[in-house]
Amino acid sequence: MKYICEVCGYPYLIEPPYDKNGNGSYIICPCCGFEFGYDDYPDKEKSIIDWRNNWIENGYIWFSEKKAPPINWNPQKQLINIVK
Ligand SMILES: [Zn+2]
Repeated sequence: MKYICEVCGYPYLIEPPYDKNGNGSYIICPCCGFEFGYDDYPDKEKSIIDWRNNWIENGYIWFSEKKAPPINWNPQKQLINIVK
C-alpha cells in the first residue's frame, strides 16, 4: 500500500501522512521534504499550500539525499494526484 503526499502529490509514501484522527505520522516526504505532523503546525491547510507553492517556485527540487526520485519522475504530472 502506497500513499500520496498531500503537499506535492508524490504517490509512493510508505505510510499514510495522517491517521484517521488527522494526526500526523511524522513521515517525511522524500520528494518535497514536508514532515506530516510537524511542518503543518499550526495551520495544516495553509502550511500545506505554502509549502507546495514554495516547492514549485523553487523549481520542484527533490528533497531526499538517501532516496532517488522515481525513474522518469515528472513533478508537474505528479501534482495532478492532488487536484481535488
Ligand atoms: Zn511531498
